[in-house]
Amino acid sequence: MLEVEFTHDGSRCTPELFIADPEKYEGLIVCIECRKRAWFTKGFTTVKGVERTACFGSHHEDGCNRASSILEAEDMEGIETDENGDNKSADIFINLDKTKHGQIEKSVDNDKTDAPPHNWEPSPKPIEIGGKSGYPMEKSLRQILSYLVRNELYGEGKSVKIVADSGRVLIEGMLRDQLVQVPYIEERHYQKEKIFWGEINNYKELDDGTVWLNYGTKREPSIYVPSDLKQDLMDKYHMKDLSRFHGSHFIVVGVVGRSPHGKPIIRSAFPKYMNFINYREKEFS
Ligand SMILES: [Zn+2]
Repeated sequence: MLEVEFTHDGSRCTPELFIADPEKYEGLIVCIECRKRAWFTKGFTTVKGVERTACFGSHHEDGCNRASSILEAEDMEGIETDENGDNKSADIFINLDKTKHGQIEKSVDNDKTDAPPHNWEPSPKPIEIGGKSGYPMEKSLRQILSYLVRNELYGEGKSVKIVADSGRVLIEGMLRDQLVQVPYIEERHYQKEKIFWGEINNYKELDDGTVWLNYGTKREPSIYVPSDLKQDLMDKYHMKDLSRFHGSHFIVVGVVGRSPHGKPIIRSAFPKYMNFINYREKEFS
């Protein structure tokens, strides 16, 4: 997109205006049509010498006419194949099991058999993530995030248990009760371990090396990343700079607190409790 709306006063913002005063616009720009959050992408020259002009990106609502490129998720291996089967299964356990062994089997689509419909009950045995016997933390979180990106109501009837290496139980309960979608953080979510997920639309890197991964404005929720954790994340995602966090989806097992100004701040201890899906922009061809 070459034009977005500046939500502060409803005016239009162009790449030129943004470049002239990024502080003014950062976090306050949305798609003119579907009003989803937008982020600024710098212009660059591709390896083939093609000039790409500066523009804005957004996870547009389906059918939005302003979408000028396709956002292609990086490293979503195995997810497409598994998409159909999973949302109907009673809990995530089965599904993660397949991933653990590197094989994705399509589960039988119960709607297409002659058998009477199942009355799915929540499984008494929760999916266990982490710890000594649980499923691998990173793959599990990534998988949950991948489903949430496609269906934000994913996880109904599924239960979850997340265990630290020490054996301490961080999270246990029905998955939907443990998930908090940013920016919809409520009073009851504060100071408890929760699974946060949502979009990062901009970020701010401070001189001391700490980073704020922001949903939107200075008052809206952010993930606080201390400098050592930032370095670990950049290594893990093979990032040279943080610009690939523009428009990322994140999932974080952590705790939300509040700044003196009332801003919700999400913190997490280890890189493995955080997972991101980054996107590359592809022109329509
Ligand atoms: Zn849009």
